[in-house]
Amino acid sequence: MVRVRFAPSPTGPLHIGGVRTALYNYLFARQNGGKMILRIEDTDQNRFVPGAEQYIIEALDWLGIQFDEGVHIGGPYGPYRQSDRKAMYRQYAEQLIRDGWAYYAFDKPEALETKRKEYEAQKKTFQYDCNTRLQMENSLSLGMEEAQRRIDAGEPYVVRFQFPDNIDITVHDMIRGDVTMNSRLLDDKVLFKSDGMPTYHLANIVDDHTMDITHVIRGEEWLPSAPLHVMLYKAFGWEDTMPRFAHLPLLLKPEGNGKLSKRDGDRLGFPVFPLEWHDPKSGEISSGYRERGYLPQAVVNMLALMGWNPGTEQEIMSMDELIKLFNVEHISKNGAKFNLDKAKWFQHEYFQMLSDKEVAAYLQKELDARGITASHDYVVKVAGMMKERITFPSDLWETCCYFFEAPTEYNEKDVAKRWTPDMHIHMAKVIEILNTVPFEHDAIHKALLDDYIAANGLNTGKVMNSLRIAVVGRTVGPDMITLILTIGKEETIRRVERAIEKIRVNS
Ligand code: GLU
Repeated sequence: MVRVRFAPSPTGPLHIGGVRTALYNYLFARQNGGKMILRIEDTDQNRFVPGAEQYIIEALDWLGIQFDEGVHIGGPYGPYRQSDRKAMYRQYAEQLIRDGWAYYAFDKPEALETKRKEYEAQKKTFQYDCNTRLQMENSLSLGMEEAQRRIDAGEPYVVRFQFPDNIDITVHDMIRGDVTMNSRLLDDKVLFKSDGMPTYHLANIVDDHTMDITHVIRGEEWLPSAPLHVMLYKAFGWEDTMPRFAHLPLLLKPEGNGKLSKRDGDRLGFPVFPLEWHDPKSGEISSGYRERGYLPQAVVNMLALMGWNPGTEQEIMSMDELIKLFNVEHISKNGAKFNLDKAKWFQHEYFQMLSDKEVAAYLQKELDARGITASHDYVVKVAGMMKERITFPSDLWETCCYFFEAPTEYNEKDVAKRWTPDMHIHMAKVIEILNTVPFEHDAIHKALLDDYIAANGLNTGKVMNSLRIAVVGRTVGPDMITLILTIGKEETIRRVERAIEKIRVNS
C-alpha cells in the first residue's frame, strides 16, 4: 500500500515549488491507489507564522489536490501536526543515546560561536563531528554520569546524532540513482533541542516511520539531509521499511540561473504563490494565482510539466489524465525554468474549455460591479462570442464593454485614419438600410456591402471600420454584422446617430 505525505512547515505562504511537490505526491498516490497525507512540520517554533497552515490547506483545496488523511481531516495515524506529537519524540532521542547513536551536548551558543571564529581565523570551517566532538562539552567528552548530573540540575542540552567515522552512506534516489556521501563530510546534526522539541530531522523520520510512509517525494533542497535520514533509519533498526526517496528538481528563475524566488515574481510580474498572501507581521501583500484569475486546472497542468513530461508532445492534461500518465522515471534531474508565456498559454487554453455559461458568470460579476443590468441570455451570448479573445476574467470587461454600454468617446487615431468627411453620408445610409431590410445577417450583408459599398465603388475597410468606430468607439471587435445583430437594431441606430452628431472632422 503506497502512502505518501506532503509535509510543509507553516513558515509563510506555500511557494509554487511546494505546490508542485504536493501535486507530484498526489499524482503518485492516486496512480498507485495509495493514500495522500498532509502533515504539518512545525517543530521550529521561531519560524512559525500564524495563518500559514490554513493557507496551505486552502491553496491545495483550490487546486484540487485532495488528502486522505491529515491535519485538517484526521485519520488513523494522527495527530498530523508535529507540535501535537511533541510528547512522543523524546523517547526516540533517548533510544538513540542508549544505543550509541547519539549524545547529549551542553555547548552554549557563545561557545560554539567562539569555536567557529577560531576556525575561521585559520581559514577553516568548524564542523561538530567525529574530529571535534571530544573537544566539546557533551556526554562523550564529559562521561554519562556528569551529563546526567547536569541534566538533573536543569542545565539546557541538545541531543546530537553521532555519525560513525569515515563510512560511505548511499541514498537510493528514484530520480537520481545512487547518491553517496562520506560521513566525514557530515556534521553531528541536532536531533532534539533544548526547548524539548525535536528538530526537523528526528521528527520527520519518526513520523514517516510511524505513519507507514512508503515514498518520500520532496524538493532537491533536502537531498543533502538524506544521508542523515538514511543513517537514522539504520540507527533505529527500521531499514527494512525505509521509504524510497525521490528528490525533485528545483524550479528556476525564467533566465535559468538560480531558484525561483518571490522577488523574481515581483520583478517580472507573476505570482509565485497559489493564493494571495497577507503577511501578518509586515502587512505586505503577495499576489496569488487565484486572485490574478488563473484557473486551478491551468495552474495544475502548468506545474505538472515543470520538471516532468509524459514522454510525448502532449501538453494539455486534466488531473485524471495526469494521474494516468505520471511516472517518476520521466521526472527530470535538471531544474525547470519558469516560463510566464507558457503559464498564460495554459490559462488561455483552459479558459477556452469553460462553457459559455461559466464565462458568463464571470462577466455577470463585472456587470454587477458596475450596476449594469442585462438579460442572462444576452450575457451568455456575448460570453460565448468573445471567449476566444480572453485569457483572464479581468480581460472580460475591457473586451466586452461595448456590448453593454454605448461608446462615450471615439478613438482619435482611428477617427483620423478612417472617418473621412463623406462618412456622415455613408453612416446615414447605414441607418436607412437597417431600417428597411430584414434584420438578419445575409440581408444586411447584401444591402450594405454589395448593393451600397461595392455598387458605389466605396472602400469597404474604411466604411466598415467607420461603422465600427460609431458602434464600438474604436476599430476592434468581432464580425461587424454579427455585432450589430447582437446589440440590436435600435441600439445600433442610436449609436450611429450619436456618432454622426458627435464626430466632427475637418474637411
Ligand atoms: N518540512 C519540510 C519542508 O518544509 C519537509 C521536507 C520533507 O518532505 O521531508 O519542506
